[in-house]
Amino acid sequence: GGVADRMSGRLLDGRELASHLRRELAHRLEKLVDPEREAGRPQLAILRDGRSEAAAVYAASLERAARSVGAGTRLVDAVEAGTERGLEATVADLNAEAGVAGIVVAQPFGDVAAGRRLVELVDPAKDVDGATPTNAGRLARGEPAFVPATALAVIAILEAYGVEVAGKRAVIVGRSAVVGRPVASLLVARDATVVICHRATRNLARETRRAEILVAAAGSPGLIRPEMVNRSAVIVDCGINAVPGGIAGDVAFDAVAPVVRAITPVPGGVGPVTPMMVLRQTIEAAERARNAQPSEASISSSGTDPSMNPSRSIVS
Ligand code: NDP
Repeated sequence: GGVADRMSGRLLDGRELASHLRRELAHRLEKLVDPEREAGRPQLAILRDGRSEAAAVYAASLERAARSVGAGTRLVDAVEAGTERGLEATVADLNAEAGVAGIVVAQPFGDVAAGRRLVELVDPAKDVDGATPTNAGRLARGEPAFVPATALAVIAILEAYGVEVAGKRAVIVGRSAVVGRPVASLLVARDATVVICHRATRNLARETRRAEILVAAAGSPGLIRPEMVNRSAVIVDCGINAVPGGIAGDVAFDAVAPVVRAITPVPGGVGPVTPMMVLRQTIEAAERARNAQPSEASISSSGTDPSMNPSRSIVS
């Protein structure tokens, strides 16, 4: 008797995809490990500011995901590392350490400027949450790049459920550097026609109604109402908004789900897939570090990486 039963379309289940990815990544990771000596087991370093609850929650989800695929973790807390200088030195050490495949600075970290300064020190080849300006620039230019995990999760869901993107009109609500913009770049790289909406968009409903793929990344609970979507739309809801009694997406799910082709739930949609994308990029970084000559620190995973374009529908 849940909403899913009354849907005309289908539920794009992020938990199901996350567990599929977990098995796939665990398998891929084991190939990197020398069973004799535990050597080569990639580690994910997570820097977080324990004073921020949001950063702590994200860090914890990354730790869990890392453990679930067999990656090691290194947790660095801002308070323990002490001064900003101390943190900068820590990042430099992690950049240099061969066993550390990936580094994530869970945001918010300290104040905004301090968090940004720290991120800019991360080696782009270990920037497995696509947070550095270098990777953002590469992504914007359509070059191989590490990509913010939430944006990758959107694409992973569309691919896994066999949603065609090429030639489709995709509308994104939100233009942040962590979600809206990178989603737009990834969809453009996959030949969608992309519209990006924000607070200055004059008639939001007019734009969203034209979406064949609608990505909500506004941080506004229930913003997308049924009269703002069309029946053929596939909706991916990135919103994670605290509301009385739990968390809600940016889409008024109960009202919208019955009138669209497909939709991600919140919770259980983009959320569980996101940490798996960090781990996927961590394993990619480890594979590259092992295979490439140290001089060619080329990285990948955006539009042009074949591993990102498997036309494998796990559940279509
Ligand atoms: P930001 O607040 O940084 O950006 C929100 C964007 O949405 C802005 O571009 C803003 O426009 C736009 N926006 C907000 N309200 C409206 C509105 N009423 N009409 C049109 N545009 C609007 O948020 P984030 O991108 O960081 O996060 C978005 C959501 O995704 C949040 O709920 C967040 O919790 C969630 N999130 C989920 C993650 C996951 O793993 N699933 C990870 C990161 C975030 P303008 O630029 O004009 O202000």
